[in-house]
Amino acid sequence: MYSRAPVDRSADSDGSAGDDRPGLGCSHGEPPDWRVQLREGLRSAADLRRLPLAPEELEALAEVTAAYKTRAPRHYLRLVDWSDPEDPIRRQVIPAPEELVVAPGERPDPIGDRRHSPVPRLTHRYPDRVLLYPTYQCAVYCRFCFRKESLVEVDEGYSPRALRPAYDYVAAHPELREVILTGGDPMMLRDDHLAEIRRRLEAMPQLRMLRLHTRVPVALPQRVTPGLVAALRGRLMVAVVTHFNHPREITPEAAVACRRLREGGFMLLNQSVLLRGINDDAEVLRELFQELVYTLGAKPYYLHHCDLTRGLSHLRTPLERGQRLVDDLRGRISGLCQPTYVLDLPGGEGKVAVGVSAVEEHEGTRWILRGRDGRRHEYDEVLPDAADDR
Ligand SMILES: *Cc1c(COP(=O)(O)O)cnc(C)c1O
Ligand code: SF4
Repeated sequence: MYSRAPVDRSADSDGSAGDDRPGLGCSHGEPPDWRVQLREGLRSAADLRRLPLAPEELEALAEVTAAYKTRAPRHYLRLVDWSDPEDPIRRQVIPAPEELVVAPGERPDPIGDRRHSPVPRLTHRYPDRVLLYPTYQCAVYCRFCFRKESLVEVDEGYSPRALRPAYDYVAAHPELREVILTGGDPMMLRDDHLAEIRRRLEAMPQLRMLRLHTRVPVALPQRVTPGLVAALRGRLMVAVVTHFNHPREITPEAAVACRRLREGGFMLLNQSVLLRGINDDAEVLRELFQELVYTLGAKPYYLHHCDLTRGLSHLRTPLERGQRLVDDLRGRISGLCQPTYVLDLPGGEGKVAVGVSAVEEHEGTRWILRGRDGRRHEYDEVLPDAADDR
């Protein structure tokens, strides 16, 4: 078992006692207000000095923090075990000098988002759904983010005017069914701004679903308020896709946030990124996927292979290892707990499943399938006589 970060409920909740440097001091309850969580967290690279990092470590980070954004709410920082330099929470949020090492093959637009962007703030790669970027700001800036360069380049928040071309584009495409709010983190928007976006989209009759991709339930669960839930409820089916990467991120606060989202009537799914030394381990993944379902009620949807973003080679795991890890879980844990292992093709051609196939050979109606026992099993299709090549 991976121990949960302690959440001390006995201490005073006004935050007046103890050491109030971000990430330090264990005598507080969690401030319930998400704005306080942001204010008392790591707001920029300058705040790194207030964390228990060695002076030479801080010095080594100056260049990285000039290149990429740094931020983490107090809640997320409190999950870090500062005594462990390889702590999986710490490595997701504290900048590392390796981020400046660009390996051959890495690219600024790793999955071709820009190539498929017909208007600003929108990516259209699949026929029936688009990505919409209502903001380029996040509660936490993840070191592994595949969009980290766009977040620096664009760096803008919500603006109805900036979204106008994207709305016009969606309105002009009757084949669309789903709009996916991503970014940036859409849950960083104010409730009234989220409601405004929802109403704009609801008015387009071809749309059926509003989806949000967010790391807020992980890093800033206090933001998931009844007001946020109410802002999203309307004509469209709503799916919230969270982004938990490690079982230690599954805290009591995250459970409250996820319960609110489910009780709001939303589908709850999760996507994770496979990260070297953070979650590329059979036990960590088993616990993550089981607790997502059993504690949070969030179905593991995708496990992403780490994209070819620049400066991420230190976080990348071999594809074969990913396949082995995922294949190992099949049969051992509930089907509800199993995500699809996917990779986004670097040219922008979209996601492909990269898990190992059970099909070893196939000729006509005769198939050779690998079973859970690791052995080859023959399967003969039995079809109606008239069946031809359908
Ligand atoms: C990943 C992605 C989606 C969502 O794909 P699903 O398989 O439906 O989750 C949509 N548009 C773009 C551009 C994407 O990269
Ligand atoms: S919250 Fe999402 S978009 Fe923002 S830095 Fe993390 S992974 Fe990237």
